[in-house]
Amino acid sequence: MMATTHALAGVVLALLVGAIFPESAAGSSLLPVAAAALGGLFPDFDLYAGHRKTLHFPVYFSIAAVAAAAIAVAVPTPLALAAALFLAAAALHSAMDALGGGLELKPWLGTSERAVYSHYHSRWIPPRRWVRYDGAPEDLAVAVAFGLPAIYALDGLAETGVIAAVAVSAVYAVLRKPMVIVTQAVVDALPTRLADRLPARFIDDFR
Ligand SMILES: [Zn+2]
Repeated sequence: MMATTHALAGVVLALLVGAIFPESAAGSSLLPVAAAALGGLFPDFDLYAGHRKTLHFPVYFSIAAVAAAAIAVAVPTPLALAAALFLAAAALHSAMDALGGGLELKPWLGTSERAVYSHYHSRWIPPRRWVRYDGAPEDLAVAVAFGLPAIYALDGLAETGVIAAVAVSAVYAVLRKPMVIVTQAVVDALPTRLADRLPARFIDDFR
């Protein structure tokens, strides 16, 4: 799924916590909401180095989130809650990736059996393909489904941020396949010697 879908899922998670525990910092402060959005984005910072493995921890992020939530209950400060929500959103992201497509560069072909790596199990979790690939129409639908309640609940800068994330998702969904077609054309045009020097992960699927 798109990084923005994950970020919006994190925002909704924080808003739910704020709705269930209105006296908590999530009910009054934007810090936990921002932390959850960042936590939702965070795992995908491994895009260029061991994607869906280096910073994706479906099990360990979940354990860390539960521990951080316990600390946030014992010491209810905005910072403690922000840390717990960051970890919970990162755990949610890692788990959600198992419901998406595989790791290949043309994931709509459905050839990869690697969705997300579980360090706890020391193996790749296979893709469920409920969302076939990042930027698929159903991925955009999920992003909008998370975005709408967030837009309703938030205002000001936070609301603008959510609208921007939904807009970026829409643009990405439109460009997702054309971008690959352009990349394919570029790789096709590259002299073999130059192509050999590029990281295999980015061009293997195009050869
Ligand atoms: Zn991811």
